[in-house]
Amino acid sequence: MGRLFFIPNPVLRSKFSSRINTMTTTLQELETEIITCRKCPRLVAWREEVAQTKRKAYINEPYWGKPVPGFGDPRARIMVVGLAPGAHGSNRTGRMFTGDASGKFLFPALYRAGLANQPNGDEPEDGLALKDLFITAICRCVPPKNKPNITEIKTCLPWMADEVEQLPELQGYVALGRIAFDGIRRMYQMQGVKLPKMDFGHNTLNQLGEGLPWLLSSYHPSQQNTLTGRLTEAMFDAVWEKAKAQLH
Ligand code: SF4
Repeated sequence: MGRLFFIPNPVLRSKFSSRINTMTTTLQELETEIITCRKCPRLVAWREEVAQTKRKAYINEPYWGKPVPGFGDPRARIMVVGLAPGAHGSNRTGRMFTGDASGKFLFPALYRAGLANQPNGDEPEDGLALKDLFITAICRCVPPKNKPNITEIKTCLPWMADEVEQLPELQGYVALGRIAFDGIRRMYQMQGVKLPKMDFGHNTLNQLGEGLPWLLSSYHPSQQNTLTGRLTEAMFDAVWEKAKAQLH
């Protein structure tokens, strides 16, 4: 299967991100670049402060305290997109959705769907392997109150575009939450791609356009949604079944 997409116009592409001109050739090299990023002063200060002060439960544990790169299968056909690292989740562990309540809901669902080799993903060295899936976020550094501002999102989105570039089999996105949904759309719009009107909804499938990946949106697996019943296991399972059904 060939590359399905990416930035259609090389001029726009070079305007979008100077980093793209020095394009990394592997996900590993890209990861090395991402974890040294300090472009957003407010988020750099916050991620490091959280890593120093820590939560009582993890007071004796080292914190990552750096940008969190995406992880998963380099042959992934599906990219899962979240908002940002959790303060004491992936800002502590260094792996997306690892070590917090959202991950405890997400990874079992991926396992049930056959997209992960095990239902737990609590620590970076736990043996978790994703199949056909790559997990990332629109913002790599934990934001105060879980709210990156629009400048920070726009500054960070090129990292996700770079990851997309490194996933030659990519066919679609699963956006976890409205902000991730908007972020994926913005990533394309920042590259001059005109997108059709589309609405966020749980288990709602949209097409970004001809030759572009599909975009499936889901409620975020945060405790705010899972403990209130707004997002149930069955509702979440339906998202992964729909995502798999789109693959070819
Ligand atoms: S949020 Fe993104 S762009 Fe900003 S400092 Fe972190 S990694 Fe860099």
